[in-house]
Amino acid sequence: MTDLRDKGDNTRLAHLGHDPRDFHGFVNPPVVHASTVLFPDAATMANRAQRYTYGTRGTPTTDALADAIDGLEGSEGTIIVPSGLAAVTIPLLAFLSAGDHLLLVDTVYHPTRHFADTMLRRLGVSVDYYPPDIGAGIAALMKPNTRVVFTESPGSNTFEMQDIPAIAAAAHERSAIVMMDNTWATPLYFRPLDHGVDISIHAATKYPAGHSDILLGTVSANERCWKPLHDAHITLGCCAAPDDVYQVLRGLRTMGVRLERHQQSALALASWLETQPGVKEVLHPALESFPGHALWKRDFSGASGIFSIVLDGGGREEAHAFLDALQIFGLGYSWGGYESLAVHVNLEDRAVTPGDRGGPIIRLQIGLEDVADLKADIEGALAAVRAV
Ligand SMILES: *Cc1c(COP(=O)(O)O)cnc(C)c1O
Repeated sequence: MTDLRDKGDNTRLAHLGHDPRDFHGFVNPPVVHASTVLFPDAATMANRAQRYTYGTRGTPTTDALADAIDGLEGSEGTIIVPSGLAAVTIPLLAFLSAGDHLLLVDTVYHPTRHFADTMLRRLGVSVDYYPPDIGAGIAALMKPNTRVVFTESPGSNTFEMQDIPAIAAAAHERSAIVMMDNTWATPLYFRPLDHGVDISIHAATKYPAGHSDILLGTVSANERCWKPLHDAHITLGCCAAPDDVYQVLRGLRTMGVRLERHQQSALALASWLETQPGVKEVLHPALESFPGHALWKRDFSGASGIFSIVLDGGGREEAHAFLDALQIFGLGYSWGGYESLAVHVNLEDRAVTPGDRGGPIIRLQIGLEDVADLKADIEGALAAVRAV
């Protein structure tokens, strides 16, 4: 296969991860269902002197996806795990020990916070939350035992941007490890390792899978962190099922064109929503009005299809009127699939950032439907809010 490193995103997505000549010319890699792998003789077995030794330690199927992700992330190695949440918890378990301190961004995905507040605290890790706009100011929160600085940019539900290079520089000065949940941008629109992050995390459930039918996570590490990450993955036995891995590799082939459409439709709707009565604020990093816009523009090469709106006053009743009036948008969690979704956002868990935005927040995942139909659906929902 020709060197793909200097090729365009869509060319890379079409060819990364599998060379057809490695498997009889078939365009796609085989789906290997595996526990036992046979060895040719006792010495090979005793020395584990062959590429594959047991199903939990990788197969040609998991290697195909891991290689593709490494190509996109520019990472030394990638582990494939059964969910996006496992892609958060496994690196945290890999690098944190009793007595260590974790700095977690306050706008983090809620289950990440829950894992830190329950299991990590129980294991003797102390946890502090920092505001997403802290930048180089993170230095003041670093303690001698701060081992990991965890970032997520944009933040879940409210999309605050973080100055990742500034945070990474401050963290590295005190030899902490920087992790980033990069699910929103995918490696197409932001490459964390190029900006100083050590470990890049994805819920591949979202855009890579793309069809609301698969749960999967990937964790990619630079040279400094790859060995301990890989060791923890093997130690925990948290491997992913081959059919799911295959489906995500399949999803990657079309992710570039899907994302372009998600981006275009979401931005069209977000700009239009800024002009709509009943909408107080639109939380989308690619809008010039958004406080973190300059950071997004500096570091990111695109925006994906999920953002939020703040309704102009009201509370739960208005939020429910909006959701119940929707005909095309489904009410459901997760995102990155082909279909549009809406959720009433709850910010009660935030520790150091304001939870009250002056009205209910509705998160919109913009799918691949026609924008005119989605717009009409939202118009109906805003009318239902006015009728409350
Ligand atoms: C959805 C999500 C996850 C978790 O992914 P699952 O596959 O649903 O477990 C992690 N981080 C972020 C930012 C997410 O949006």
